[in-house]
Parts: sequence; C-alpha cells; structure tokens
Amino acid sequence: MGHLHRREFLGLAAAGAGVLALNARGAAPVASSTSAARKTKRVVLVAFAGGVRTRDTFGTPENVPNLKKLADEGVLYTRARTANLGHFGAALSIFTGIAEQRGIRENARGPYPTLFEYARKDLGLAANDVWITTSGGAQQVNYAYGLHAEYGAEYGANTLDGEGIFNKEFKRVLDALGRPRELPKDEEAVLKKLRASLAQGGAAGLNSAESAAQVERYILQELTRGTADLTGANAGDAKALRLARNLVSLFKPKLTAVVLQDADTAHGSYNGYAEVIRRNDAALGELVQAVRADPELANSTALIVVPEFGRDRDLNSRRGLDHGDGSEDLSNVACLCWGPDFKRGEVVKDEVQVVDVTPTVCELLGARAKLAKGKRLPGLFG
Ligand SMILES: [Zn+2]
Repeated sequence: MGHLHRREFLGLAAAGAGVLALNARGAAPVASSTSAARKTKRVVLVAFAGGVRTRDTFGTPENVPNLKKLADEGVLYTRARTANLGHFGAALSIFTGIAEQRGIRENARGPYPTLFEYARKDLGLAANDVWITTSGGAQQVNYAYGLHAEYGAEYGANTLDGEGIFNKEFKRVLDALGRPRELPKDEEAVLKKLRASLAQGGAAGLNSAESAAQVERYILQELTRGTADLTGANAGDAKALRLARNLVSLFKPKLTAVVLQDADTAHGSYNGYAEVIRRNDAALGELVQAVRADPELANSTALIVVPEFGRDRDLNSRRGLDHGDGSEDLSNVACLCWGPDFKRGEVVKDEVQVVDVTPTVCELLGARAKLAKGKRLPGLFG
C-alpha cells in the first residue's frame, strides 16, 4: 500500500478499527478492584491444541527453547487436568471453562458462553478488542461464541484464519477489494455500510470513500502480512500465530486467542509431531518478541499457553501417537502463564484444571466467567 504510509496508518488504525466494530456494545465496564491494580491489560491465550504431551515439550526442553524461557520467567503448572472430549470439545473447554458440555457436537457451537463473550459483555469491549485466530477448518469458527441466550454472537470474537478469512460480512468486502472486478450489488451494500461505520467512528481524514477503502485494504494486508510464505509441517498453525502477532502489534486487542491443531499429525508420525512442536515453539517465540519489542505491550501483556489434552504413553503401530489410553500423558498437560503480574520461575505441581484458564483470564481482565466451572489458577500472582 504505497499511498498510505505506515505511520499514518497506525494513527488511523484505532479509528479504522471501527470497521471491525460493527456490533460494538456500550455496556458499562465492570471495574474490579483487583484488576485495576494489576498491570495486565491484554491477554494472549494460545490453545496449543492437536494433542501435545508435556513429555515432548517441557520434558524435552530442546524442542521448546522459547516456551522454556517463558516458563523461567513465569508460572508453569505441570499437572493441568484435561477435559477429554475429543479435540473440538476439549479445545472449546479451554474457552468456556466447562469440561462437560452437555449436548456438545463436533462442528457446532457450544451451549455455554466463551471467555470472549464474558469479556465483551462485562467490559463493554468492541469487536476489534477481542479476536481469535485459528489454524483453519470450518469447525474452528465455533470457538468464537456459544449459544447461551444471555451472550452469543453479539459478544463474540472476531475470527481470522490462515487464509485471512474474517467474519463472513467483512470477508466478502475484503475479497471484493482484493480483486479487480465490479462489485456485485450486495457487496456494494455491505461496503457502504462499512464505510458509514468508519465515518461514524470519527476517523479524521477519512472523509472520502476512497481513503476508507484504502484503510480496509491496508488492514487486511497488514493482518495477513507474511502468512503466504509460511509452509511446512505446521503451516496452518504458523499462519494462525503470525496473524496473532500482526493483530497484537496493530490493534493491541484486549484478548487475542489462537487455536492450533497441526500437532495431531502425531496419529501417523511421531517425528512429524515433534517437528510441529519445534516449529510452533519458534512461531510463539516470534509472537513474544513482538510483544517484548513494543513498549506499550511489553509491560501489559500476559500470555497463556495450554494444550487441550496430551497423547498416549506408547507409540502405535505406525510409530505415531494416538489419544485414548487414559494415561497421565494424555490426561495431564502443562499450562504456561507468563505476564507482568505473575510470579517468575515458579513451578506448580499441584493439580489444576484446563478449565481454570477461562476464569483466570476473565479475572485478569476484570470480567466474570459466570457459568464457568473452573477456578482461578492458584499461586499465579506475585
Ligand atoms: Zn487426534
């Protein structure tokens, strides 16, 4: 985007983010006395999903030098009990704080609110403050919000996957902008609506339709920057992590979640799985580097990394690893918490639960996970 310089764009980004805030709500923030005193203003939550054993991460530190460094600077829970419901249900439980999701089906939204909905409703956050990037697949859009009557779509997270696909409405516009062709009537209407929304956001200097379109195009380019080049065993995961890195740098959202999945290649190959872990560790390292390099983010951002479950203790006949033997390797994972308010270099060996993550994140941000069954992680704060 040669017409708009980066610095100009960054100045516009906050206002331009109005593009993404079509359903911003005006709910009154719930100020919690504890959260007010804390430094944490933003949380990045990475579901290191696909089934990842602690034995292959913190048990083999050479696989995860970046995670190891974060653990040395943060709190590592070595026995986080998982909700073993299959990949989808178990990963969803990270975001709802509920292990037993009645009526949960694969590829459907869950019945309970997600932490995105708690945060947006309680804190009155706009859509551009809460994001989820996924490794891809239609199923993964279901993490953005649930079907609970008091919450739901209007409080959901913006979704973005490795191909740069946003919420459907936004995607159509961005697709159209990227192609040199006439806009069909309905897309024209959506684009008008977005521009109107942008104008209402009071974006100084954005008074022509052309410059609004420029900002929209630039936002997509910036968010997906570098994702096209990512290939290899963890390509989907690497894209999700790169999108998160770009998001965190550009929009500085209050809550950014990432769902990974490529480690599940383990069913067919242990070596392929170990490679995914190493590559994802490197991509996580880049994300954290972006946080450390930004003075505003460095002292205000917490990172939590947790798998949805582990894997079997023993290799299968293909020299791979399934998940179903009920072993400790499967039912306990490591949960890493790193941030300005957390203890440093602490290892907690007491049993906690993966579903404790949602109440912990909500409390950090000053929201309340009303329906979650988990509890705040113990021994986290310094
Ligand atoms: Zn699997």
